[in-house]
Amino acid sequence: MKILLVEDDVALASRLALALGAAGFAIHEVRDGVEALHAGRQHQFDAAILDLGLPALDGLTVLDRLRREGHRLPVLVLTARERWSDKLAAFNAGADDYVIKPFEFDEVVVRLKALIRRSRGDAHPEFAIGPLRLDTRDGRVSVHGEAIALTAQEHRILAYLVHKRGSVVSRTEIFEHVYAPDEDRDSNVIDVLVARIRRKLGAPLIHTVRGAGYRLAWEADA
Ligand code: CA
Repeated sequence: MKILLVEDDVALASRLALALGAAGFAIHEVRDGVEALHAGRQHQFDAAILDLGLPALDGLTVLDRLRREGHRLPVLVLTARERWSDKLAAFNAGADDYVIKPFEFDEVVVRLKALIRRSRGDAHPEFAIGPLRLDTRDGRVSVHGEAIALTAQEHRILAYLVHKRGSVVSRTEIFEHVYAPDEDRDSNVIDVLVARIRRKLGAPLIHTVRGAGYRLAWEADA
């Protein structure tokens, strides 16, 4: 999952990015409101973490503009402001959730996972697709009840395919949602990793759609 992280406090942003990276998210960091607006318009993110007090353009204005332009990504607002009127203004501008500084990094991670899950219309944190189970709380993966050990990269890819299950997902899309923009990698790596995930899963869950990409589905459900 790719997250837009908008925070001008460099120390806080780097600690957050570390916690989010450890939780399997790919992070695109920006430091001011103008960059945030630009990034929100240019890229497809699975969610955003948005500070309200920002240079150049405040977070509320960024959120309000993105929403007016029809961008629907889930937005978790971070702020030091704790007045009720500030929360109300954030929700009215289109925030989906709100965390007051100082906060626990783990809380931000679990709230973000819940936001992304709900944005897909999923109420339960464990996905079941045919014999595959993926628990988004602890990241555990199993097939027919057998635990599957995946590397961090393999896990990110599988989690994204599960998030988009039933849809065809291109290599470029997987690449963009799994790696941070500054990670210098060849997109062919996706094919190699998908092949490894398939071998580990054993069951026919990831299908190649010629010329288009991959689709995760359990055909017996179709
Ligand atoms: Ca700030």
